Amino acid sequence: MPLAERQLIASIRCAAKLRSSALVTGIGDDCAVLRVPRGHETLVTTDFSLEGIHFRREWHPAESVGHRCLTRGLSDIAAMGGQPLAAFLSLALPNDLDQSWADEFLKGLLALARRHKLPLAGGDIAQSPAGVLADITVLGSVPKGRAVLRSTARPGDLIYVTGALGASAAVVEALYAGLQLDRSKLDAHFYPQPQIAIGRYLRERKLATAMIDISDGLSTDLSHICEESRVGGVINETAIPIAKLTSPKVQLRHALHGGDDYQLLFTARPKTKVPRRIAGVAITPIGEITRSRNLTVKSADGTKRQLTSQGWQHFQQNPND
Ligand SMILES: [Mg+2]
Repeated sequence: MPLAERQLIASIRCAAKLRSSALVTGIGDDCAVLRVPRGHETLVTTDFSLEGIHFRREWHPAESVGHRCLTRGLSDIAAMGGQPLAAFLSLALPNDLDQSWADEFLKGLLALARRHKLPLAGGDIAQSPAGVLADITVLGSVPKGRAVLRSTARPGDLIYVTGALGASAAVVEALYAGLQLDRSKLDAHFYPQPQIAIGRYLRERKLATAMIDISDGLSTDLSHICEESRVGGVINETAIPIAKLTSPKVQLRHALHGGDDYQLLFTARPKTKVPRRIAGVAITPIGEITRSRNLTVKSADGTKRQLTSQGWQHFQQNPND
């Protein structure tokens, strides 16, 4: 192992030290040993953060890349109503990368981990032939049989979203356009917070019938719930909470189709009393699940149009290149 790699592991081990009742043995043995609470099931999720696809080194500070890498995993645990137990990071770095980049990446990742009392319990480091490749695995737990699934929405259920949507997509568009941005006011894109507390709240009180996190965009993620539940849905365009930024301006299309918001999209029976705010975050009803398996958007004047899922296109193609 090159010395740099050994040093990196040592600094991860040092920085990742965090006492957790779930962690029996962490970094330093062949496997981590985890203790899952009695009567719980284990949740596992894994997500890539690839340079040129999920981030660009010239646009994203390393600290933001580390933060967003872990947010992707934590947001999936939130979407099941789970409690995160431990994270595992596999990181491949090109050999021309500054050590300070790796340090800042870890700083961002570990700061978010600490906020959720989540130990970094293992992983792997390798040399990448090109670009930074990070793969985060997050383990979580949920009481047996209580995970909130995508497949259990029913006709008549109301559709809700947490927070506001579209900021991240609007920022990405502005980055492509080469606009000067004040990054310190754009945490929604650079430092999005996974909605762990809301997911847990909804699961503990049995408020949600189905749930997903909005990582690919409202239109795509709602279609996932509808496909898995074999239902359709109608969204009221005027009800969608569009994020407010001074610059860039967030538009409806960003809120409808933009990804990387990491808010939660869930359904609840029409009689269920869903609070207007949970953990300080607004909860907004935006539509209804239908028996007919179409996805439609209703405009302010009552006209309906088909809602087509427009996948999130990340940073692959730069229209200005
Ligand atoms: Mg997800």
